Amino acid sequence: CGIVGYVGPRESLDILMGGLARLEYRGYDSAGVAVIDDEGQIETRKRAGKLKVLREDLERHPLSDGHTGIGHTRWATHGGPTDANAHPHLADDGKLAVIHNGIIENFAELKAELVELGYTFKSETDTEVAAVMIGHVYREVGSLEQAFRAVVRRLDGAFTLLAVHANEPGLVVGARLNSPLVIGLGDGENFLGSDVAAFVEYTPRALAVGQEQIVLVRPDSVEITTFDGEPATAEAFEVSWDA
Ligand code: GLU
Repeated sequence: CGIVGYVGPRESLDILMGGLARLEYRGYDSAGVAVIDDEGQIETRKRAGKLKVLREDLERHPLSDGHTGIGHTRWATHGGPTDANAHPHLADDGKLAVIHNGIIENFAELKAELVELGYTFKSETDTEVAAVMIGHVYREVGSLEQAFRAVVRRLDGAFTLLAVHANEPGLVVGARLNSPLVIGLGDGENFLGSDVAAFVEYTPRALAVGQEQIVLVRPDSVEITTFDGEPATAEAFEVSWDA
């Protein structure tokens, strides 16, 4: 439902929690965050309920500092609103974290393939199927971009997907099909959001990611390609406060 991502020098958790609070108006039933900490591990917290529940959990069990992160507020479509079904979903032994807005229509087929390969699932969501499949391909190709692209091309339905991998700190990959994704351009830092509310307090410069585009967002660069890997451009715009 609500998506936020960050890469840059700041403490990413602050940006993620602030962005999720500004996306609360959309409605949601669960919330979660994942950051790549300075030791290169993914740390995550996710809880059913309001952001307050997640915030209290983070106060009791703080995350280490991290400068790459993703955050999500969920509106359940596949699987009830439980802690386990909340995003991010992890794969590749906890080294990969994925968040998703929308619905993956062909998740049952993809899940059957993964079950055949011996994978098990911790949630009832369509999203975890994408996460596990990206993790599976990652083990073969060792590149988040390549694994993400290979899997995104196989997904039907409507999705905005973001992923981070512990082996590739300083990178958030994103894709969209029939669901929005915008990038906020900063100075030595960049932001991602399901809408500009996610980052509007940090930068007015934005890119509207196009249909069937994949983005590689790093502190100093934003690379955009089609699902097939052809170079692409996204429409630049300025966010005005009264928009
Ligand atoms: N289909 C996903 C789920 O049920 C994402 C829902 C959303 O857009 O928040 O977990």
